[in-house]
Amino acid sequence: MPGIDLHTHTTASDGTATPRELIRLAAEAGLSAVAITDHDTVAGLPEALAAGREYGVTVVGGVELSVFDGQRALHLVGLFVPQSPGELGEALARARHRRHDRNRLILEKLAALDIPLDYDAVLALAGGPGESGGTGEPGGPGVAVGRPHIAAALLNSGRVKSMKEAFERYLGATGLAYVPKDKMSLDRAVSLLAAVGALPVLAHPYLLREKGRSMERLVAGYRERGVAAMEAYYSEHSESQTREYLALAAKLDMGVSGGSDFHGEAKPGVLLGRGRGRLFVPESVLVALAARRDGMAGRP
Ligand code: AMP
Ligand code: ZN
Ligand code: FE
Ligand code: FE
Repeated sequence: MPGIDLHTHTTASDGTATPRELIRLAAEAGLSAVAITDHDTVAGLPEALAAGREYGVTVVGGVELSVFDGQRALHLVGLFVPQSPGELGEALARARHRRHDRNRLILEKLAALDIPLDYDAVLALAGGPGESGGTGEPGGPGVAVGRPHIAAALLNSGRVKSMKEAFERYLGATGLAYVPKDKMSLDRAVSLLAAVGALPVLAHPYLLREKGRSMERLVAGYRERGVAAMEAYYSEHSESQTREYLALAAKLDMGVSGGSDFHGEAKPGVLLGRGRGRLFVPESVLVALAARRDGMAGRP
């Protein structure tokens, strides 16, 4: 059975492969389907869909959202997001706008540390897919600009030697120039996704750092709040974590998803469809998710 990858990032957010390059890589890797799940944007989708037709790869629209459940931050991947996602699209545009405000605050903190970076240089590094329509957004139409682009600017300035060092010293949660992101509520994200017939998926559950009964309680709560599936297959999951999450999804009647979180050169070592080498997401995962989406109430 061919493999698939339902969690990927392109140049529309912080990946380094254009949507077209990503689809070409998928075809080369023998993947039958890929979801494009950029942070806060669906701008990569038109180019990916066109490339998918050319290369014979099924392309699923998606997005990754940073949300707050009232107590902690988590990521949702929305799958089956349409090209023009209505109210969700407007919320994504606002999130991208807030990113610029946050990025400028980060640059102010860096400047105070005697590391002056030019925001235009950061935006130039973020330049997204070339072919989408012009909206005059900084960094390119629909492009979500974030910390990885600032990290790349730090790297270019010679002030750090790696992306890892950029996050550890400056941009990460314990870094000197850290600025938290202001996040959408989980419930709002679920309702925006459901309104366009998209399926809300709990991304990379291992990052919740819970297991056993406490993990079950937490995820059962998300299920109650409308999160329909979880990523059991993920680049950073051990085999035992994958087994645990498959069992948990079955117990809670949640769907199962999976993907690499491919970012190209921005995450060296994570391969499309293969993760760190042992990832394999069977095609049957997408078939089951599509059936679950079709059974969802309230879709248009
Ligand atoms: P942002 O959305 O601007 O907050 O940036 C978050 C993104 O930064 C994540 O999706 C990762 O791609 C990347 N990232 C987060 N932490 C690290 C790290 N320690 N090293 C490299 N990249 C990271
Ligand atoms: Zn990312
Ligand atoms: Fe994530
Ligand atoms: Fe991601």
